[in-house]
Amino acid sequence: APTPPPARPLRILALANQKGGVGKTTTAINLGTALAAIGEQVLVIDLDPQGNASTGLGIDRRARRVSTYEVMAGEATLAQAVVPTAVPRLSVAPSTMDLLGLELEMAAMPDRSHRLRNVLRGVSPDITYVLIDCPPSLNLLTINALAAADAVLVPLQCEFFALEGLSQLLRTVEQVRGALNPRLTIQGIVLTMFDPRNNLSTQVVADVRGFMGDKVYETMIPRNVRVSEAPSHGKPVLLYDLKCAGSQAYLRLASEVIQREGRVPVAA
Ligand code: ADP
Ligand code: MG
Repeated sequence: APTPPPARPLRILALANQKGGVGKTTTAINLGTALAAIGEQVLVIDLDPQGNASTGLGIDRRARRVSTYEVMAGEATLAQAVVPTAVPRLSVAPSTMDLLGLELEMAAMPDRSHRLRNVLRGVSPDITYVLIDCPPSLNLLTINALAAADAVLVPLQCEFFALEGLSQLLRTVEQVRGALNPRLTIQGIVLTMFDPRNNLSTQVVADVRGFMGDKVYETMIPRNVRVSEAPSHGKPVLLYDLKCAGSQAYLRLASEVIQREGRVPVAA
């Protein structure tokens, strides 16, 4: 009899950067879609009260009857929150503004930093990647994501202040590793909204690569209007326009991500 494929281990990646507008949510949606396209079973956890990952994946606000708020608050199970998306093998646990209140409620809980880690113990056994879309802050929600994750993936926008926040983020990762999650690593840094015609963009790339070396993925996500249009259609860019440069970049990023983990692609 043919030997069954080896079980694929679950990997939990947190998409984190305390700056807003750097491409965390766009990367959660589109890296998630690209990983699903190459055969992984992906769950996106929307941990931002803005809920942009949920919207971008086509989940109407009225359809978010159970959200990550209820799950983190212990009022519902993860399975109750998870909804399918239009992308095969990609599901999402959506968020609502209720998450804003959770920060305060959690502050008094003794396990406040490990709420998400405990929730993820209940993740469906067929899931092979969990991508956590963090809010633009190093708050307790982001700490929960870092405490639950195997690795952090940092989207960094190719702009002048790109490196400014990175040191602080790296210090936070160190602190979480020391106090909450010793196995936490940095999966990589992905440069987003790259514009080759812009000298500043090119200079930022050189600086970040000089500072972070091969932690920076070779794949850069270009600034691409199709990427920014897709969310208003409630679609990942890979469904909206597979051929555009943004979609192709996210597919390359997905193969770099699985390569870094020593995984063999599922689909030949
Ligand atoms: P964050 O989650 O870090 O706040 P987003 O992913 O929401 O950032 O991106 C911020 C804005 O930039 C959004 O309007 C998004 O559509 C746009 N954007 C992100 N990546 C690209 C890209 N590669 N090309 C063009 N626009 C982009
Ligand atoms: Mg976001």
